[in-house]
Amino acid sequence: MSQELTEYQGPATMEKITSLAKRRGFVFQSSEIYGGQSGAWDYGPLGIELKNRISRNWWKEMTQLHDDIVGLDAAILMHPRVWEASGHVENFTDPLVDCKKCKSRFRADMIPEENLAAKKCPDCGGELTDTRKFNLMFKTHIGALEDESSVIYLRPETAQGIYVNYKNIIQSNRMKVPFGIAQIGKAFRNEIVTKNFIFRTCEFEQMEMQYFVKPGSDVEWFNEWKKRRWAYYEKMGVKMDHLRWHQHGPDELAHYAKDAYDIQYLFPMGWRELEGVHNRSDYDLTRHMQFSGKDLQYIDQDNNNDRYIPFIIETSAGLTRTLLMVLCDAYDEEKVADKGNDDDWRTVLRFHPSLAPVTVAVLPLMKKDGLAEMAKDIQHELKQDFSTDYDQSGAIGRRYRRQDEAGTPFCVTVDYESKDNNTVTLRFRDSMEQVRIPRAELAERIRKEIKAYKRIK
Ligand code: ATP
Repeated sequence: MSQELTEYQGPATMEKITSLAKRRGFVFQSSEIYGGQSGAWDYGPLGIELKNRISRNWWKEMTQLHDDIVGLDAAILMHPRVWEASGHVENFTDPLVDCKKCKSRFRADMIPEENLAAKKCPDCGGELTDTRKFNLMFKTHIGALEDESSVIYLRPETAQGIYVNYKNIIQSNRMKVPFGIAQIGKAFRNEIVTKNFIFRTCEFEQMEMQYFVKPGSDVEWFNEWKKRRWAYYEKMGVKMDHLRWHQHGPDELAHYAKDAYDIQYLFPMGWRELEGVHNRSDYDLTRHMQFSGKDLQYIDQDNNNDRYIPFIIETSAGLTRTLLMVLCDAYDEEKVADKGNDDDWRTVLRFHPSLAPVTVAVLPLMKKDGLAEMAKDIQHELKQDFSTDYDQSGAIGRRYRRQDEAGTPFCVTVDYESKDNNTVTLRFRDSMEQVRIPRAELAERIRKEIKAYKRIK
């Protein structure tokens, strides 16, 4: 368990992160030229690279490294009965209050209790409406008719796609309990409050793994998955004192959950949920069995064909929320005047090199005298193994700054000596140190540095 920090320890603020994300092409506001669409964001060239790396990293961790977990990509549109069975039609609601005076809308569980008790708006002191239930599912219609018979929902979680396929996967892939199914995909929630950049949005992506276990072994597996998910963030190189566990109290427990813990991260705006680890009991499969009329019991062929409904341990992380966490965690500012560069301060994203959108940038010291050609040739070579960038414009110090701000862990500089003896300098983002090495050793050296990477700050 980490020590309890009360305040965010880095220099990042949500304003700085939002502005850097836009400036460098990580994240843009959706439909910005029309004034923006709240609750939706677009991922630019660096953002999509970062998002892809986070999702590939999770996918590798959850599938490649576990023989007992397989993947799935289920449709966003599902039979509407799924959401009746899951309890979402009835229970997936937030308590909503409006201010009659300033028309602000709040989640009742997110405003101070004294305001709620006095029915006074926390913003303007005006009178609040009674609390009413507001369903978070986006509802639309499928087909030509727009009536009750054509209602369909955009999925509010990826989990249900896994439950309704659990029998298919047992049969097609001969999986035996305990086993898991992993999925990454979009989910949609009509969130009332969508501030804090991409933290809470109406359209987002989840990385979920549902692990099916024998009833009675669920508590043990729940603890095991808590351990594994904690270790995952350690491996990712996240500041571990910015993570903590939060157990759901009886009031917070979802309608399906037997026990639930969140991994919270200390964002600039405070401790917030990053991932949930839930013991969903046999609730989901029991309900789908009732609503579909299909037998979803597991037949344990190794134990006299015993039949039971597996319990489910779920690990549910937000991909887009993890991206925000990675940005906040990586963000740093430092004074660099003594390093002989032309700027006093630099902003640097200290991404783990395996997550950085650009792994290596190749920079010719000068455009002329064949240096640009040599640098392009080196970039072409490195491209086969790494994601690369090439930059020849401006003073070298400024180019380093630009790469630091994009979180590029390695810069290769081609200078006059390179032409003489086929060596280049390799510059490290975090320490700003440079080493001169033979061109032929570059790719291998970068690979080694990625493997051995340890964050220094
Ligand atoms: P909250 O109580 O904050 O609304 P939740 O407990 O309903 O969230 P879960 O249903 O457990 O969230 O979702 C699992 C994960 O999906 C969350 O830990 C979070 O990372 C992500 N997530 C959920 N809702 C959103 C959203 N609106 N925008 C971005 N990510 C989200």
